[in-house]
Amino acid sequence: MWVSGVAEIHGRWIARGLRSMPVPAAAMTLGHVVLGCTIADLERTRRHERVHVRQYERWGPFFLPAYLGASLVLKLMGRDAYRGNPFEIEAYAVDDPSKRSF
Ligand SMILES: [Zn+2]
Repeated sequence: MWVSGVAEIHGRWIARGLRSMPVPAAAMTLGHVVLGCTIADLERTRRHERVHVRQYERWGPFFLPAYLGASLVLKLMGRDAYRGNPFEIEAYAVDDPSKRSF
């Protein structure tokens, strides 16, 4: 399903893949494609995942290495590699106005 220029896809195989990741996810963004376990997950996470779409647009091919690199550095520092990741902090901020940086 296309929602404002972004393809949102869900299904049993996608759900299986997302739930078996190191950090189990309800949804994940790959460029302008958002994979979700269910339609409800896609709707619930839409605002968060749209921030990742904007990040992909900003960083282009460097997004994934930058994201994974930030997580790796955090992990090596003994910090939370997911919640401490600056890309996730920005994405979670859309639902928490007090943490909004823009
Ligand atoms: Zn996220």
